[in-house]
Amino acid sequence: MSDLEAILEETRAAIAPKIGTGKVADYIPALARVDPNKFGIAVVDLEGKVTSLGDAHDPFSIQSISKVFTLTLVLCRHGARLWKRVGREPSGSPFNSIVQLENERGIPRNPFINAGAIVVSDMLLGGGTAAVTVDQITEFIETLAHDPSISVDREVVASEIETGYRNAALANFMRGFGNLENPVDQVLEVYFCQCSIAMSCVQLARSALFLAAGGKDPVTGQQIVSQERARRINALMLSCGHYDASGDFAFRVGLPGKSGVGGGILAVVPNRCVIGVWSPGLNANGNSLVGTLALEHLAAKSGWSVFVG
Ligand code: GLN
Repeated sequence: MSDLEAILEETRAAIAPKIGTGKVADYIPALARVDPNKFGIAVVDLEGKVTSLGDAHDPFSIQSISKVFTLTLVLCRHGARLWKRVGREPSGSPFNSIVQLENERGIPRNPFINAGAIVVSDMLLGGGTAAVTVDQITEFIETLAHDPSISVDREVVASEIETGYRNAALANFMRGFGNLENPVDQVLEVYFCQCSIAMSCVQLARSALFLAAGGKDPVTGQQIVSQERARRINALMLSCGHYDASGDFAFRVGLPGKSGVGGGILAVVPNRCVIGVWSPGLNANGNSLVGTLALEHLAAKSGWSVFVG
């Protein structure tokens, strides 16, 4: 057994008593049906070597983790123009909050809260159709993951559309401020579909490997984004990737990370590896409860942190 395999086994043993705790995201009915006892973790290193255990190959709803990929894609297409329409500050508010939007005239605090991601969806849509835009997002992720089998879970999309009143409110509010250019229903379709993409821990970790390697896919050598851009995406993940718990995640784990209400977390260890973890039960901030504990344990045992002196 490699050192890493031993640490992952130890991590699983440490969190085992907590598996099944937390609350699955029941505001999206399709997510409420997911087995709360699932747990998977995968580490992909810069050679592409996968070390994993548990349900690391099961696809789950990536939800807000998709915001890392859509941010990357919008920066590739529009560069710094994004920052006229979305900020770069932690919100200190829940992911679906509307409170700051009025004072800040429809400019969301960052691209990882729902409002910010909805503006990103609007920019990616750019006058096209939702179906084509969703295909482009999915294909981009497939290219990054080196896996052509990634798809949108249509049952989750239907569930999100049915219950997406808060996201519709955010989108309409921003449209009222002139910060959405496309019809609200089209923008929301893109947003709901990207959130409903299903991926496993292994696929997630593989697809974000460029963020651990200066913007370059370290296995193929393909430059996905510039080194500067990769560094900045990591900075945003660290400061904003866990909403109003981003500070706590930095304190406990010390790595750029992005969570989703499907219970997944993606964490980047620069120059070393990427970690995907999944456990559906959420804490009060809407982040995976066991997933966070597992990353905290893994970071402590491995010494991985962007803050080591
Ligand atoms: N689709 C979810 C929503 O819009 C995404 C939220 C999340 O993962 N934090 O509410």
